Amino acid sequence: MNLHERIQDVQTRIAAACQRVGRSVEEVKMIAVTKYVSLETTKDVLDEGLQHIGENRWQDVKPKWEALHERGTWHFIGHLQTNKVKDVIGKFDYIHSLDRLSLAKELDKHAAALGIQVQCFLQVNVSGEESKYGMAPEHLFEFADEVSRMKHIHIAGLMTMAPYEMEADATRPVFRGLRELRDSLNKQHVFPYPITELSMGMSGDFEIAIEEGATWVRLGTLLVGKEI
Ligand SMILES: *Cc1c(COP(=O)(O)O)cnc(C)c1O
Repeated sequence: MNLHERIQDVQTRIAAACQRVGRSVEEVKMIAVTKYVSLETTKDVLDEGLQHIGENRWQDVKPKWEALHERGTWHFIGHLQTNKVKDVIGKFDYIHSLDRLSLAKELDKHAAALGIQVQCFLQVNVSGEESKYGMAPEHLFEFADEVSRMKHIHIAGLMTMAPYEMEADATRPVFRGLRELRDSLNKQHVFPYPITELSMGMSGDFEIAIEEGATWVRLGTLLVGKEI
């Protein structure tokens, strides 16, 4: 399959997953994760009409961002080191990996200096797998409460990753868990605005994530391929 066919195939699968659980396809947005492909292919992705680009290292995305940033919406999806905040702030429209207070403070400080509000997702390690980034669910509420007082951070939603080696079926409780956490944040009015988004689901498990309420799926290998 070429890029065009892969995009169509994924869109068909997204629509089918939505239909299985009675969701509207408009609720699910696709982030094309271009970390394994060249600048040229990233340009092709935008030419195909995909708007959202996801990357996880500033060093790698820099040439792509410099050449193409006006054409897309940029999502920083990887672990973000505190000393790299200055590189990505103001360039990426969304940060999906806010998982600790030191990072929140740094983001808030740099966003304040730029006079902007940075859109973030709180990354939660729902599965409890040791090697993963993200905060433990039991720390989420206290952390969210602190972040809710930072004027230059706006929380769009929650993000999680299921363990890579997990069978697709086994990921369901992970995604459901994230949805339930979002719903209880809203019920307890931790933020003065509703938290609507769930960034969850990758190439191997996006259909299950959609069945469990994903509003953003992050697709690399399956959608744009792997060249590097
Ligand atoms: C690489 C990556 C993805 C995409 O992974 P694929 O399995 O290639 O779709 C999604 N989310 C994050 C956080 C990633 O680092």
